[in-house]
Amino acid sequence: MNYRYIALTGVIGAALWIAGALAERGAFRDETATETSAASAVAPNVTAFVGVRVFDGARAIPGANVIVADGRIAAMGPDAEVPKGARRVDGAGRTLLPGLIDAHTHVFGDALERALQFGVTTELDMFTDHRFATAMRREQEAGDVPTRADLRSAGTLVTAPGGHGTEYGVSIPTITSPEQAQAFVDARLAEGSDYIKIVYDDGSVYGLQWPTIDRETLAAVVEAAHARDRLALVHMGSQRAARDAIEAGADGLVHVFADSAPEPELVELIAKRRAFVIPTLSVNQSVTGVASGATLPEDAHVAPYLTATEIENLKRAFPTHRGSKARAAHAFDAVRRLNAAGVAILAGTDAPNPGTAHGASVHRELELLVEAGLTPIQALAAATAVPARIFALADRGRIAPGLRADLLLVDSDPTSNIAATRAIVGIWKGGVEVTRQKPSRATTDGGRRRVDARGRVSDFDDGTTRARFGLGWSASTDQMMGGTSTAEMKVVRGGARGTAHALEVIGTVRDGAQFPWAGAIFFPGGRPMEGVNLSAFTELRFWARGDGGTYLVMVFAERFGMVPVEVPFEAGVDWREHVIPFSTFQGLDGRGVRGILFSARPGPDRFAFQIDDVQFR
Ligand SMILES: [Zn+2]
Repeated sequence: MNYRYIALTGVIGAALWIAGALAERGAFRDETATETSAASAVAPNVTAFVGVRVFDGARAIPGANVIVADGRIAAMGPDAEVPKGARRVDGAGRTLLPGLIDAHTHVFGDALERALQFGVTTELDMFTDHRFATAMRREQEAGDVPTRADLRSAGTLVTAPGGHGTEYGVSIPTITSPEQAQAFVDARLAEGSDYIKIVYDDGSVYGLQWPTIDRETLAAVVEAAHARDRLALVHMGSQRAARDAIEAGADGLVHVFADSAPEPELVELIAKRRAFVIPTLSVNQSVTGVASGATLPEDAHVAPYLTATEIENLKRAFPTHRGSKARAAHAFDAVRRLNAAGVAILAGTDAPNPGTAHGASVHRELELLVEAGLTPIQALAAATAVPARIFALADRGRIAPGLRADLLLVDSDPTSNIAATRAIVGIWKGGVEVTRQKPSRATTDGGRRRVDARGRVSDFDDGTTRARFGLGWSASTDQMMGGTSTAEMKVVRGGARGTAHALEVIGTVRDGAQFPWAGAIFFPGGRPMEGVNLSAFTELRFWARGDGGTYLVMVFAERFGMVPVEVPFEAGVDWREHVIPFSTFQGLDGRGVRGILFSARPGPDRFAFQIDDVQFR
């Protein structure tokens, strides 16, 4: 039926994949750490892992002591002296690993907190809202963030109008020609992207049809990234697309091709060009209709730490489509051959796509990599030292003096049995032990969604588009469906009832798209279009003013399937409050709300409206 809505909610089913990489300045933040470690040796901030098997990023070292002081590894080895007064952690029968790095994720909401709960201390994001990434980066640069994983991010990905990555309901810029490449890449770097992720995928592998950039544009974007010393990472699904990407000089592939049995010449080419591969076997399974994460909630080491929402998602797979050529066996075969050819393999989960969860899924991905022929040691390196080297994260990924004390202590020996990474004894980030929490399972929303108890969403009075819960606000237009409508969103002075600020949306809704729209959308969940239980409330309230036009508030909810329900409202010169009972939206009971879009309707002129004090009551 309504293709636009199918595409919008495709978020849920057709989420995705992405990639990325880049460098941080290698310098250690605290140059004095080593010097002061002697003085602080008797201080309570020294931790000593005693008599532990160490996987240092490359090999297993039995019976070692690892001394942590001031957030750094001060000493490591069988003879490392345990300072007096140090907190001693018994290592007998246990293995100490570098904190894990998930090299392919999409970070929204509380993803980084959730990842850390499973020993993932760094996430490499392959497409998220660049403003969110910037906020995370700013906090990281200001000091250690001991309750969540660190983030590196591709920010906005590079894709064609209507291409993969535009289906999330979030309006993003797109590219159509090689001439735009350098300016496009520079705009991403100005937004803070650590590396450039490029979508080169027409969907045919999955039995879908997506617009995609052409080969010339792909090559130009790779060149533009390299001109700025950034990694160029390519999302693709087929061997043909992989060959184009590698021939264009791409540094890495952020999935593995799964459309046919791997061709030896392609494997050779990837090895020769020293490209790396983040296979994301977890989603390679999920796109074939197999819920790759379904075994995690059955694992007694993992289950108590999963939220109900995560468990649901781990048991899901992507919807499959007629004509899909994707086969998990091809993906496993490709990883086996690439690894044998010496290609660097990185562990990435593509969380939170169907069949995955941030953090927990790395442990599943490691298991799948071993199934695909990596030794347990190689698999562990794929989630530690290898991504650290490739993404130039010089201060992490290994256990060695001077590096960050991002550590994972597990029972038994994952260097011989990979599943042992799940038997977590303790997690340390920057030397600070992480408190693991067992989320409540009382409701399907678990302990995960922190919906503001009073239902307040945004009053914009802090001058930002932030919301009190959920992902906040994004501009949304039909450009993702090939339309040409535009919307710009900003916080302006002069809110309703004399308050400081309001959200202004200006744009044009042009006929041309099959279903034209432009406006601003609020996502109440931790990722775009994630359903949230708002049944504690019965109505939506907001203030609006504008150019006198009639606008629409559209609710996306699980029970409506693909089609949102819309209610019109007027935006006149003066501020006016609108109170819309949930029941007006076809009897909505507040459960499974995915998004609320304030949109203009098609018209010849530019529209302008403001909203303020949005809340549920
Ligand atoms: Zn992805």
